[in-house]
Amino acid sequence: TSSRRDSFLFGGPVSLEDRESSFTTIDRGLGIVDGIAGTIGNTPLVKIRSLSEATGCIILAKAEFLNGAGNSPKDRVALNMIEVAEQKGLLVPNRGDTIYEGTVGSTGISLAVLARAKGYKCHICMPSDMAIEKVELLHHLGATVERVTPAPITDPKHFVNLARQRAKEHTLSSETESRGFFADQFESLANYTAHMKTTGPEIYEQTGGLIDAFVAGAGTGGTISGVTKYLKEEKKLTNLKVVLADPQGSGLYNKIRHGVMYSSTEKEGTRRRAQVDTMVEGIGINRITENFESARSLIDDAVRVTDLQALRMARWLVEHDGIFIGSSSAVNCVAAVMTALKMPKGSQVVTILCDSGSRHLSKFWKSVGELGLEHNEEEKGGEREEDLI
Ligand code: PMP
Repeated sequence: TSSRRDSFLFGGPVSLEDRESSFTTIDRGLGIVDGIAGTIGNTPLVKIRSLSEATGCIILAKAEFLNGAGNSPKDRVALNMIEVAEQKGLLVPNRGDTIYEGTVGSTGISLAVLARAKGYKCHICMPSDMAIEKVELLHHLGATVERVTPAPITDPKHFVNLARQRAKEHTLSSETESRGFFADQFESLANYTAHMKTTGPEIYEQTGGLIDAFVAGAGTGGTISGVTKYLKEEKKLTNLKVVLADPQGSGLYNKIRHGVMYSSTEKEGTRRRAQVDTMVEGIGINRITENFESARSLIDDAVRVTDLQALRMARWLVEHDGIFIGSSSAVNCVAAVMTALKMPKGSQVVTILCDSGSRHLSKFWKSVGELGLEHNEEEKGGEREEDLI
């Protein structure tokens, strides 16, 4: 019963005030946290056994889908963006303020959860071709969702520009004190600093600083920049190799490898610009954001990953390790393997598992299910290494 549970949690009969104040000193090793925001961060670093065995390196993946608010690394970013805005007085709880954001899904889900928990409304603009389960989840969380036809970033109807516009309209038209706040994950430096303050230090502590390569994709660039800046600049891991994992069709690979980028504003045909689409959601862009720029000069190399490689990796991980991941995580794992194969045996390679496969059932995992039987046959007879890439 409840009194027995209370005495278990709090060590004996206590008054309501005592109970409340006990939450100010939460970290007593009992695993009690203060609200959903307390479940963000301190995610495990999982050794992926099959990939480690296949490459002769130690492949470690930060299980970011275990962040407990929106189940992705964007929990860290959303929390930091909100807290920075609160410190500046741009957001005030229970004033009717609305958080606006342009997102392919993950950031919107984290913002929607934290908005509920903290007393805000949430309005998400997202491209119409993103997996439907993310839209449904946002609806259940109480966010307003505007699905926008995909357009170049120069178009005022691009989902990011629309979110900025909506925030402005809210503030201008508000008859109350309430404000619209544009979170701006692509350009706001509260994005990469979240990873600099939490993800980077966690990886450093979990590996004891023994990390030879860090491999990650970039959507806003927040993760790769924050982690890289912490490890290379603050911890002076100068021998650390940082590798960008880029899906087919993204322009970042060329930027890192060749210093050029075919910007989305260039007319088709004026330059040899890739017109390749990808089913991967969340990473791969054709412009340089402030967050990506923050650590661009510290990124050593880039690996390009095809959709087929990502699909096969996703299936491989569920079959061999019971790890069920989304498309960007699969791209990261392919690039981690490619990186590991070029490094001395025993090297430690760290990558990120961004979100779960359950966010990608209707698109990515449907395609995994449709992979040919050929793949299964190959796998039974073949060498593991050859199957991977
Ligand atoms: N994976 C998924 C599923 C994402 O939604 C995102 C963010 N858009 C990323 C990876 C990339 O992270 P970042 O924005 O920090 O580059």
